[in-house]
Amino acid sequence: MIETVTVPEHGELELKCPNCNLSKIFSIKKYIRHPKTVRARIRCKCGFTRSALIERREANRKRASLIGCFVNNDIGKKLGIRVINLSANGIRFKINDASKYKSKVGDELTIEFKLNDLPTSLIQKKGIIRSFRDSIVSAEFIEKTFSPKNIPLKIFLFS
Ligand SMILES: [Zn+2]
Repeated sequence: MIETVTVPEHGELELKCPNCNLSKIFSIKKYIRHPKTVRARIRCKCGFTRSALIERREANRKRASLIGCFVNNDIGKKLGIRVINLSANGIRFKINDASKYKSKVGDELTIEFKLNDLPTSLIQKKGIIRSFRDSIVSAEFIEKTFSPKNIPLKIFLFS
């Protein structure tokens, strides 16, 4: 049986060898931008080799143009945004008016945006700022799973 693994956004995957039980971190960054699922051979120090299907669906960002807003949980002021892209792991958005906005990497945000489905689903996610430059914020979601309320987001990302 060939196992399927998904590439995390940071591109490092920890796998346990079924032969010697040692865990090893594999860098699979080169697969993140790969357009399709790829089959890779993974070789352990003990010599055991196996195949795995590497899927980058989780890391794959979907382009979007969605209206929303966010609150920096430390500052508390709500600002309008336009979502640029989305993945199961995070979001990138542009702040409509960032002129007075002070924020830094590591700040926690609550982000809300509307999908373009019908009826329109309102998605709310908490995230941590990973970069903030020229009014563009990249944030990593704290919860990478989909709560029942956020199932429409899963459908949006994977359909
Ligand atoms: Zn091994």
